[in-house]
Amino acid sequence: MLINPFDTDERRAFRDTLRNFMDKEIVPNAFEWDEAGHVPWAVHEKFGALGLWGFGIDEKYGGHGFDDPFMRLDASIEISRCGVGGIGAAIGGRGISLDPIQRLANEDIRTQVLPEIIAGRVGSSLAITEPSGGSDVARMKTTAKLDGDHWVLNGSKTYITGGMESDYFVVGARTGGKGLAGISLFFVEAGTPGFSRTPLGKKMGWWASNQATLYFDDMRVPAANLMGQQDYGFLQIVQNFNYERLTLAGIALGMMEAALEDSISWAQQRETFGKPLIKHQVIRHKIADMSSKIDALRSLLWVLCATIESGTMPVAELCKAKVFATKALEFVASEAMQILGGAGYLRGNRVESIYRDVKVIAIGGGSEEIMRDLAVRQMGL
Ligand SMILES: Cc1cc2nc3c(=O)[nH]c(=O)nc-3n(C[C@H](O)[C@H](O)[C@H](O)COP(=O)(O)OP(=O)(O)OC[C@H]3O[C@@H](n4cnc5c(N)ncnc54)[C@H](O)[C@@H]3O)c2cc1C
Repeated sequence: MLINPFDTDERRAFRDTLRNFMDKEIVPNAFEWDEAGHVPWAVHEKFGALGLWGFGIDEKYGGHGFDDPFMRLDASIEISRCGVGGIGAAIGGRGISLDPIQRLANEDIRTQVLPEIIAGRVGSSLAITEPSGGSDVARMKTTAKLDGDHWVLNGSKTYITGGMESDYFVVGARTGGKGLAGISLFFVEAGTPGFSRTPLGKKMGWWASNQATLYFDDMRVPAANLMGQQDYGFLQIVQNFNYERLTLAGIALGMMEAALEDSISWAQQRETFGKPLIKHQVIRHKIADMSSKIDALRSLLWVLCATIESGTMPVAELCKAKVFATKALEFVASEAMQILGGAGYLRGNRVESIYRDVKVIAIGGGSEEIMRDLAVRQMGL
């Protein structure tokens, strides 16, 4: 058992509250919501009441008025421990749009929408990925052209988490020349004429969440909905992706912990060749390897949080941590499935759903390949 040297009473209390809430309100329903492909909206409001989305958001917009990387990390771990990744995606998808709205949207938009989103009464999404590609953001094709006092957007976005239900979107579109400078961000409301959306087809995992393809067909948004500086919108939110990487690594850790717990309890009950599985050396070594990866990731994430808290954003290390986390998750999920044998292959158990959700963590929010590239670039190479 590792002790977090940076733990505090407040962090412990937040973690305990969230864990109790998950045990009582989420875990008993998790597989049912996953099969149904939907998390009831009342659940979003309950998470809102727990203050899940308030980190880094001013109190005047309904936030906490402070940030805490450890609490952000704990939230991602505790939520993903339920084993149904779609629940975290459905609930947490709005998280990546909040900082851009607070920092870059105009004051009217901020005061009108942030309290609603943070309370869980409405959803919001960040829409960057396009049908022609997600990794190479610099080649974004959606355009925005100024026409009088409106911007006219044309193009499409896809894989947008929460997109079928969100009321508000932060949308990237090209306003200038080629490259990352040349992309601006726009605040878009779902009902705007020219806006439409369709759900993604059947997915490998993350069933409880929805993802949408969005279409903008001569969609006019008020000039005041331009977020931040024209042509530099995307560059202004690059920092925002650091917390997304921390969160995704935390999600991987929560999934790994759940897979290990279920592996141990199965190995203790199941008997083969006259003794419990846990007494077979091969299985004992699997448990040792799985738990050592968990220890390593947990320790790394604590140090990264402490680094962020001290005022330095460890960009390269967060990219490397996300890759390390997803590779470790892939290993742990596979070993857990192996320990459970045929029982692991049945729906309605955490190991099965965790195994299905491995790849979305390895691809979304910056794929392993892109994270490695960025890390090495950040190392000055
Ligand atoms: C369930 C789900 C939810 C998502 N939610 C959102 C969301 O809310 N908002 C949003 O904007 N996006 C979202 N995404 C999109 C996600 O961010 C992209 O899928 C991701 O960035 C990769 O883009 P791509 O799928 O277009 O793959 P591509 O960019 O086409 O890349 C394909 C593969 O090639 C690799 N690759 C690309 N370039 C290189 C290179 N130079 N060298 C080596 N390998 C390379 C990539 O790593 C990837 O493995 C979501 C995706 C999924 C699956």
